[in-house]
Amino acid sequence: MQDHRTDRKTAHITPEEMAKQRQAMAEIRALADRPQTFCVVTYGCQMNAHDSEVIAGMLMEMGMTEAPDRESADFVIFNTCCVRDNAERKALGNVTWLKEVRKRNPRLRIGVCGCMIQEPGMAERILKQYPFVDLAFGTANLYRMPELLLRLLRDGGRVVEVAEEDTIAEELPVQRLRRDAAYVTIMYGCNNFCSYCIVPYVRGRERSREMDDILREAESLQRDGVKEIMLLGQNVNSYGLGLESGATFPNLLRRLDAMGIERLRFMTSHPKDLSDDLIDAMAGSRHILPQFHLPVQSGSDEVLRAMNRRYTRADYLGRVKALRSAIPDIGLTTDIIVGHPGETEEQFLETLSLVEEVGYDSAFTFIYSPRVGTRSAAMPGQIAPEVATDRIQRLIAVQERRQRERLQRFVGTEEQVLVEGLSRRSDTAVSGKGGHGISITLAGTEKDIGEIIPVRVTGVKNNTLTAERL
Ligand code: SF4
Repeated sequence: MQDHRTDRKTAHITPEEMAKQRQAMAEIRALADRPQTFCVVTYGCQMNAHDSEVIAGMLMEMGMTEAPDRESADFVIFNTCCVRDNAERKALGNVTWLKEVRKRNPRLRIGVCGCMIQEPGMAERILKQYPFVDLAFGTANLYRMPELLLRLLRDGGRVVEVAEEDTIAEELPVQRLRRDAAYVTIMYGCNNFCSYCIVPYVRGRERSREMDDILREAESLQRDGVKEIMLLGQNVNSYGLGLESGATFPNLLRRLDAMGIERLRFMTSHPKDLSDDLIDAMAGSRHILPQFHLPVQSGSDEVLRAMNRRYTRADYLGRVKALRSAIPDIGLTTDIIVGHPGETEEQFLETLSLVEEVGYDSAFTFIYSPRVGTRSAAMPGQIAPEVATDRIQRLIAVQERRQRERLQRFVGTEEQVLVEGLSRRSDTAVSGKGGHGISITLAGTEKDIGEIIPVRVTGVKNNTLTAERL
C-alpha cells in the first residue's frame, strides 16, 4: 500500500463549495421521486459514529426522514470501518444481504462510504463485485455526498468517487444521536503509522480544525442544552499541528473549560504525545472529567518497537504515574493487542505484568488482525490463531480481576451519572457514565435519560458500578 506520508494535501473546503452542496441538498428536496426515508448503518469507532450523524443531518436536509429499520428505508447507506478484518467482512455481508431487499423494493438505493472505500482497490472491487451498490464515496468526499447523490438520482447509473486529499469541511448539518451529549471532532487523520494500523492510509494525514470553529460549535451545543462534549480525533494530543495560530490541545481544553460546559471528555490519546501541560490543564480544570483513555497496546519494548509506537514500557508507566500523581483517582482505560507478528510468550507475559501493575478500570482487548498493506501484515512470525486466542483469554482473565479490584475504590464515594438509557438487565434501572468514565447502574426510569444524577456507589457488579441516588 502506498505510504501517504508525503504526498497528501489538506483541502480546506471553501464556502463556495459548501454553498454548492447546500444547493444540491435543496435540489434533491425538490425532486418528486427522491427517496423519502433513509437508514445509516454504522461500523467502527466514535469518529465514524459522528460521521454518520453528519450523513443523517444532510439526508434530513434533503427532506428524508429516518426509517425504523434498513428493510423499510428507500436509501440505505453503510458507513464502514476497515480497522479490523471482521468489521469489513460484516459490512460487505450486510451490503450483499440488502440485494435481496431490493428485489422487493425496487426504489431502494444502496450507498457505501467510510474508511473501507478509501482502501486502495476497494472502489474498483465494489464496482465489479457489488453491482447493486449505487453510490460509493470515501472519507475525504463525505461533504460531497449531496452532489453525488443528486447526480445518481438525476442521471441514474452508479456514482463512485474516492478523493486522495485530506479535507476539512465546516458547517455541515448534523443530526445528533443524543440531545444531552455530543461528539465534536477536533482533528482528522493520523501521522503515526503504527505498523498494524490502516487508519493513516484511509483517514489521511493529521489536520486540525481552527480553534475558533471548535469553540463556536461548542457554544452552540451549550446553548442547545448539551451537558457533555466528547472531543474526537485519532490522536487529540497532537491537536494544533500545522495550525498557524499555534493552538495546542491543552489550550483548547482550557478555553472549553472556561466556557463552563458541564462535562468535557476526549478520545483518543497517544502516550508519546501526552504532555505535562495536558496533565496540568486537566488537573486545573473544573469540567474536564477525571478519566483518560491511554492505549498501551503491549507491555513489551520489543513488540512496541515492532509496532512503531515510539515509546517504551518505562515511558508509558512514567506517564501513568504523572497522571495519577496529578489526579489520584483518575479513571484509566486502555487498548491492548495480543498476537502481533513475532510476539513471543515471554513478551506476552510482559503485557500481562503491565496490566497487573497499572490496574486499568477497563480495557479493550483485541487479537491482532492483519490489514493488507500495513507493515505488520508483511512481517514474519504471524501468530497462530489458537495461540492468539489462548493469550487473549488469559489477558481478559487478568484484566477482569484487576478491574474488579480497582473498582472497589469507588464504593462509598459520590459520583455524578449522566444517564444514557435503560439498563439492559432491568426495566426499573438505568445506566450511564460517572465522572471517572465507569458505567454505573442505578434505579430509575426513562425520564432520567439525559439527566445528571448525583449518586453514592454501593458496589461492583459485572465489572461496572452499582449506586443509589443521593
Ligand atoms: S496512533 Fe497508531 S493506532 Fe492510532 S490511529 Fe494512528 S496509526 Fe492507528
